[in-house]
Amino acid sequence: MTVRSRTAGEQTGLTYNPDYNSGSVEGISRIQLNVRDGKRLNTWRAYLKPRLGDGNLTILTSTHARRLLIDDKQVTGVEVDFRGRVGTLSAHEVILTSGALASPELLMRSGIGPADELCEVDIDPVHDLPGVGKNLQDHWLSPVIFTTGSQPVPMGEVAPAEVHLFAKSDPDLPVPDTQPLFFSVPMYAQDSAPNVQSGPVNGFTLQGGLVRPASRGEVTLSGPNPQDPSLVNPNVLSEQADVDALVASVRQCREIGRAEALSRWQPTEIFPGPEVSDDELEDYVRGSVVTYHHQVGTCRMGQDETSVVDPSTFKVHGLEGLCIADASIMPQIPTGNTNAPTIMIAERAAAVLVGSPLEGITTP
Ligand SMILES: Cc1cc2nc3c(=O)[nH]c(=O)nc-3n(C[C@H](O)[C@H](O)[C@H](O)COP(=O)(O)OP(=O)(O)OC[C@H]3O[C@@H](n4cnc5c(N)ncnc54)[C@H](O)[C@@H]3O)c2cc1C
Repeated sequence: MTVRSRTAGEQTGLTYNPDYNSGSVEGISRIQLNVRDGKRLNTWRAYLKPRLGDGNLTILTSTHARRLLIDDKQVTGVEVDFRGRVGTLSAHEVILTSGALASPELLMRSGIGPADELCEVDIDPVHDLPGVGKNLQDHWLSPVIFTTGSQPVPMGEVAPAEVHLFAKSDPDLPVPDTQPLFFSVPMYAQDSAPNVQSGPVNGFTLQGGLVRPASRGEVTLSGPNPQDPSLVNPNVLSEQADVDALVASVRQCREIGRAEALSRWQPTEIFPGPEVSDDELEDYVRGSVVTYHHQVGTCRMGQDETSVVDPSTFKVHGLEGLCIADASIMPQIPTGNTNAPTIMIAERAAAVLVGSPLEGITTP
């Protein structure tokens, strides 16, 4: 399937790109994976597990950070729920890495954020930072699903998705803004999709993908108590340019799915389905859009008044003893997937925090 999906792309006029991390992402490529010894090399295996025996590392599992402790603009620690017991941890420096949805939540629960909005949910503002929780960005997918009847589709060598491409939804764009992905399984839009899909088990999917969205969402709080849920409004497809780009990507996926290289499985398109013409895809895309799980941007780094984090020190503007080093500090979502850029942020933050030159960082 991996070879044939690449060939199918080439049959529609796409160029093979042997290394989309070489400087140009455009073209169809084999997906690069963090795999070592047949297992995903995640950040736990790569960075933390090898340091488990070090005397200066303590890991508290099943421990939920409830809020930061702040004394006159100096962060002094964290209030935690440690397996049902609430306590405090003191620190002269706190490095927040809760991710793009939870880092702004923790700041706001601590009174750090847009002061007027905090007052509305009965939280006393401690430090007015209007950009906290704003600028939420994500990558978005909309599936084109083909059934293969009684014929199962072979899985990839190591993953169900092994081929993708970066393409321009409009040839006049300076860089690609879409990232269609091949999956050797039918990926019916579920979870948070506006219209839930279902269908036969044998099939494959070409996911239309929007990777340079113009829409911006936000994370806010629903109330002052730790159990009051945060509210995530992705504001997905609120800009027509995003709708147009995702429609173009879905249209391209339909074309690739019909290519001769995939005909041995006799695929029949079931979503959007033959009754939906290329000119009627907007409703389909709005009803099937799902997250690619790449949220960023809610504690944006920068030097202007709505930025949250200083780009050279990783410190939260206007506070002492608090840094952020996760996907929330990205000002703009990268075109590619977000895991490696987040690791890069963490490596750079680590170098700054220990005062070592950035070029001294070595990859595990
Ligand atoms: C299902 C899924 C698949 C993905 N696949 C890919 C992929 O194939 N390639 C890719 O590049 N990216 C992928 N991503 C995106 C990638 O995982 C993220 O961009 C990256 O992990 C972001 O890192 P982070 O450190 O900002 O946040 P996270 O990795 O989310 O880390 C935040 C951590 O903080 C913890 N936390 C949050 N709140 C609290 C609290 N109050 N107290 C204590 N702990 C807390 C969380 O449990 C979590 O462990 C995927 C994401 C998901 C969800």
